[in-house]
Amino acid sequence: MSLKVFHNIKKLATLKGAAKKNGRHIIEADLSPILNAVMVSFKGKIVWVGPKGQFKKANLKKWDHPNKAKYVDLKGAYVMPGFVECHTHSVFSGDRSRELELRNKGVSYQQIATQGGGILNTVKATRKASGAELASLLKSRVQNFIQQGVTTLEVKSGYGLNAVTELKMLKAIKEQKKPRLVSTFLGAHARPKEFSTSSQYINELINKQLPTVKKQGLAHRVDIFIEKGYFTLNDAKKYINKAQSLGFPVCMHTEQLTRTGGALLGIKSGVQSVDHLVQVSQSDIKALSKAETTCVLLPGADFYLKMAYPPARKLIDAGARVALATDYNPGSCPTQSLSLIGLLSRLEMKMTLPEVLVAYTLGAAYSLGLEKEVGSLETGKSCDFVCLDQSWASLFYEAGHHPVQQTWWKSRKIY
Ligand SMILES: [Zn+2]
Repeated sequence: MSLKVFHNIKKLATLKGAAKKNGRHIIEADLSPILNAVMVSFKGKIVWVGPKGQFKKANLKKWDHPNKAKYVDLKGAYVMPGFVECHTHSVFSGDRSRELELRNKGVSYQQIATQGGGILNTVKATRKASGAELASLLKSRVQNFIQQGVTTLEVKSGYGLNAVTELKMLKAIKEQKKPRLVSTFLGAHARPKEFSTSSQYINELINKQLPTVKKQGLAHRVDIFIEKGYFTLNDAKKYINKAQSLGFPVCMHTEQLTRTGGALLGIKSGVQSVDHLVQVSQSDIKALSKAETTCVLLPGADFYLKMAYPPARKLIDAGARVALATDYNPGSCPTQSLSLIGLLSRLEMKMTLPEVLVAYTLGAAYSLGLEKEVGSLETGKSCDFVCLDQSWASLFYEAGHHPVQQTWWKSRKIY
């Protein structure tokens, strides 16, 4: 049954206004809500959305015989676009919970790493795990996101740091059947012990791993971590060139711990997103405000690392397009909670609720290059939505509470 009529919707946030403004300078009116709404989908895509008073059964014949339509009673729910979680490291093995105790005792991140902790600890465990183990670990994490209303989910590799394990991680991502998965190759996450300089490892990635990932069709895009002690601006230039010449869209982890100039490089290279941005300068903000590149803010990592938060207000007021994500990973941000991220965005970054709602849907869709498919509930887009039992005004308010009752992806109920 591919023609569906969703009805008995108390209020539906289309985000049409936000989409018209390309996700910038968002105000409450940009949520473009419809009271007593009806939404029609055909083959998983929205074909009509509007107030109940304007819905005509006879018009359904444009898509299929009106008698074939399946009516879905949403029982007075509040409906909004499914969440787009655009930055996660959800595939990994191992456990680093002990590191929080160590950090609390004053042991530095650097000392933890030399004792075999940190990212290389996760690398060790992930290299050891089988593909089936990784896929099964990932599946339960994906389910956790779905239960929170996520209908598009990005997952990065990057805990293998060798060809075998990176490919194993990407295959585990490809195995997930729902929701919409975007897989990102993050071989350039850190320098593995097997290489003595970052540029040697970048060359290995350029000459071997990137072409293999491309050939096997295992990643939608490519990411690199530009940071003191990780990869330099020069490494990044070479790497981005190669990735783009293979046809990969690029995103970057940058300006997190130190300012490297990565954001400006990203804009110049036309990358989809620059992520973290804690250390951006005034001139970076100006450049970002005019760029097509989306700013992905990850306040959960800043919270766990007890760092400053990115200057969200300055970015948004200047006109930059912002997205939010968990950055879920086993070290610097071990939480999958969208509720926590949204709350931090409001409390610590002073974002308004409409800005948070748009950043977590349409803004995030832009960061993945999916703004034409997802992020708002408009004709032609995928029928991906969540049902809330109370208004979206209740979101990102009560810590730990996320009032999503149902998750629908391509007009199928997945939670
Ligand atoms: Zn990250």
